[in-house]
Amino acid sequence: MVDLVGQYAEIKEEVDTSISQILEQATFINGPQVHSFQADLEAYLGVKHVIPCANGTDALQIAMMGLDLKPGDEVITADFTFAATVEVIALLQLTPVLVDVEKDSFNIDLKAIERAVTPKTKAIVPVHLFGQCADMEGIMKLAVKHNLYVIEDNAQAIGANYTFSDGRKQKAGTIGHVGATSFFPSKNLGCYGDGGALFTNDDELAHTIRGIVNHGMYRRYYHDVVGVNSRLDSIQAAVLSAKLPHLDNYCESRRSAARKYSAAFASHPNIIVPSASKKCDGICADCDCHVFHQYTLRITNGRRDVLADHLGQQGIPFGIYYPIPLHLQKAYADERYNEDDFGVTNQLVKEVISLPMHTELDDEQINHITETVLQFIDG
Ligand SMILES: *Cc1c(COP(=O)(O)O)cnc(C)c1O
Repeated sequence: MVDLVGQYAEIKEEVDTSISQILEQATFINGPQVHSFQADLEAYLGVKHVIPCANGTDALQIAMMGLDLKPGDEVITADFTFAATVEVIALLQLTPVLVDVEKDSFNIDLKAIERAVTPKTKAIVPVHLFGQCADMEGIMKLAVKHNLYVIEDNAQAIGANYTFSDGRKQKAGTIGHVGATSFFPSKNLGCYGDGGALFTNDDELAHTIRGIVNHGMYRRYYHDVVGVNSRLDSIQAAVLSAKLPHLDNYCESRRSAARKYSAAFASHPNIIVPSASKKCDGICADCDCHVFHQYTLRITNGRRDVLADHLGQQGIPFGIYYPIPLHLQKAYADERYNEDDFGVTNQLVKEVISLPMHTELDDEQINHITETVLQFIDG
């Protein structure tokens, strides 16, 4: 699904030099590489504070701890996402409230959020699934109306821009009260191990979070709040610093591959290609709203599973993100849920298939993949 070897070749010299420097200086934790990456990412995102941490799941958990959410508080998030989002809500003994998503964008449905708000609701966690922002303008308006926090799960959309209706653009993850991201190797900005970060423009929240990631310490050996141990190590920061200047190019390579896929599939009656946000026409020809963490098709003739088997036999990688709605997972099932409220997610889990998507895809590979799909799809 990804080609990290090809990508490494291009930044090898810089990465190798930084890593051997860290080995020679033994500045493994909290070295200067972490601070300079933090500053570089703040500048790139146009956000006041980046707080690095150990992974994206921690970033989500720490965001909720930083906002002082308490057991019993209800947190609304999408039914169609990776489990990490709902896992940390449950782990903190908050009450997850899963809601349905939109068919076109795969993102959380604003109207479903609105229906799920109760007096106990404290936060919304929109997930910018597959590389495109949820309806942040609508979500921020709703949050103001009901006095809710917004925590963006930006693990799949770093580098994406969100365009407001007045034309203003803001980077994904910097619009809500706090954003959380992951630098897992296969993410759009990935390191060579685990890594994550939080983003916020709120000085006070940033200060709180910096203590939480470091055992709740604001002064050495004084523990003011319950914290965690969650650090980005210097080697990962060095890798990320080498990659960050290329991130916009990486995103453009992905968009270019997505355009080629979509051109091949667009007119097929049983394939629905991913659509960009409503504000853009076509498939992001001149637009930066989608960074295609995944390129996900919907197969509408019931042949998704046989297509997946066929791709497997042909040695073409694919992914089913995600095969089971979260509200049907054993860990997160809840008798309060009504099946009728999850019509879209229940349909998407049967239709979606993601094709190989990375920065090193060439035309020959794309043609081979599209031809294999098109030759098989109708049976
Ligand atoms: C990858 C991912 C995470 C978790 O990130 P890790 O760094 O693996 O902990 C959270 N949410 C979403 C949507 C993700 O894709």
